[in-house]
Amino acid sequence: MKTNIITYGCQMNEYDTHLVKSELVSLGAEFVDTWQEADFVLVNTCAVRGKPVEKVRSLLGELRKEKEKRPLLVGMMGCLAQLEEGQQIARKFEVDVLLGPGALTEIGKAIESKHRFWDLSFREELTHHLPPAPQGALSAFVSIIRGCNHHCTYCIVPTTRGPEVSRHPDLILREIEQLKAAGVVEVTLLGQNVNSYGNDQPGFPRFGELLRMVGQMGIPRIKFTTSHPVNFTDDVIAAMAETPQVCNYIHLPVQSGSNRILRRMAREYRREWYLDRIRAIREAMPEVVLSTDIIVGFPGETEEDFQETLSLYDEVGYDSAYMFIYSPRPGTPSYKHFQDLPREVKVERLQRLIEKQKEWSYRQNQRWVGKTVEVLVRGAAKDESYAEGHTRGNHPTLVPAAQAPRPGLYQVVVKQATPHMLFGEVVGAEEAATIPLLMA
Ligand code: SAM
Ligand code: SF4
Repeated sequence: MKTNIITYGCQMNEYDTHLVKSELVSLGAEFVDTWQEADFVLVNTCAVRGKPVEKVRSLLGELRKEKEKRPLLVGMMGCLAQLEEGQQIARKFEVDVLLGPGALTEIGKAIESKHRFWDLSFREELTHHLPPAPQGALSAFVSIIRGCNHHCTYCIVPTTRGPEVSRHPDLILREIEQLKAAGVVEVTLLGQNVNSYGNDQPGFPRFGELLRMVGQMGIPRIKFTTSHPVNFTDDVIAAMAETPQVCNYIHLPVQSGSNRILRRMAREYRREWYLDRIRAIREAMPEVVLSTDIIVGFPGETEEDFQETLSLYDEVGYDSAYMFIYSPRPGTPSYKHFQDLPREVKVERLQRLIEKQKEWSYRQNQRWVGKTVEVLVRGAAKDESYAEGHTRGNHPTLVPAAQAPRPGLYQVVVKQATPHMLFGEVVGAEEAATIPLLMA
């Protein structure tokens, strides 16, 4: 069956797409690049904000029209599928296969059933599932924990992905071993809150211990995302500092700099706690690269609250940030109880925050000029005279293409920096980690 999978949303969704894809391969699926060529279109959805939901709605509208012209199987998976909102959309647009984030291992049954197949259960098989390594990849994701036990008032994830379930460490290590054998040099450990790893399973290592275990496996780069400040313990910091394979990069979402708003968001920490974590991180890892998530215009956010977010940004001096306008999501406490702010207030605050982010990213990127950094080159950039890659600190980086003819790890001297990019010259390649162009 000619199959096309369209993925929206976070890295967890990318990982889940790979998982489902590998199941479909064993059923004889042939993958095509566009839905127009496909007999089966599977949409992996995101429900965190309104925008990705709108995108899914309009794509499913097109697919329903296409179904009137020819036989076409349409599937929907991911966070939106789990919600009543998503199921209404699925009914309206005549979706045949609907799989919640906990039911992905049912994809085979869904395809073979030949009838409408909907499954929204959370299946244990998923925790034990071991997807094969992807072909020719240098970077890969590994899921270590699913679900979330926090209850941030704006967030739909605990509803869509259920409570935290950690994967057995043996399975995680086996998956990483397979990735290493397939040539992967960078592994990102994934979860909604990776720092909670092991808390739900007696006898499992805690996250710091897991980092040390993964560090010994011979993968040159280990990253992880996402971290919750409350669970970012001293032991996680110590494990990072003493495990050279773990990259000097931390994504630590703060969401707001105002204690009043943090309380309303039910983030479970105060500004002072967050800044103390940053202090402890910098003390242990002075060269650390820090990024964050910030929501602007949360209900009731005043200009003073927003100023607190700007001042926190200055205190931390983030290298980069993902900045979002608050999006009221049906099913969340903030949607139910709090009045949304006018859009123009939110947009104007976002613009001011973006200016702040650009200033700081420029300043922070300048500190790398003249230094030698390791760049994982993926291949040709849009401008083909350059090859593109990223540093251990996640900075997008360009080098002259002639200096990095194959994907792999290179030592690069940074010559120039903009807010969003480093430019460098290759001074050495780590031969064992470069792979022939054909496989890239
Ligand atoms: N578990 C992670 C955490 O706690 O930081 C991230 C989960 S969420 C998929 C990614 C980001 O989306 C959040 O950090 C938050 O900034 C943003 N987000 C979640 N719900 C949102 C909403 N209703 N409106 C705007 N942004 C939202
Ligand atoms: Fe959502 Fe908060 Fe859980 Fe992150 S920690 S997934 S923002 S509820």
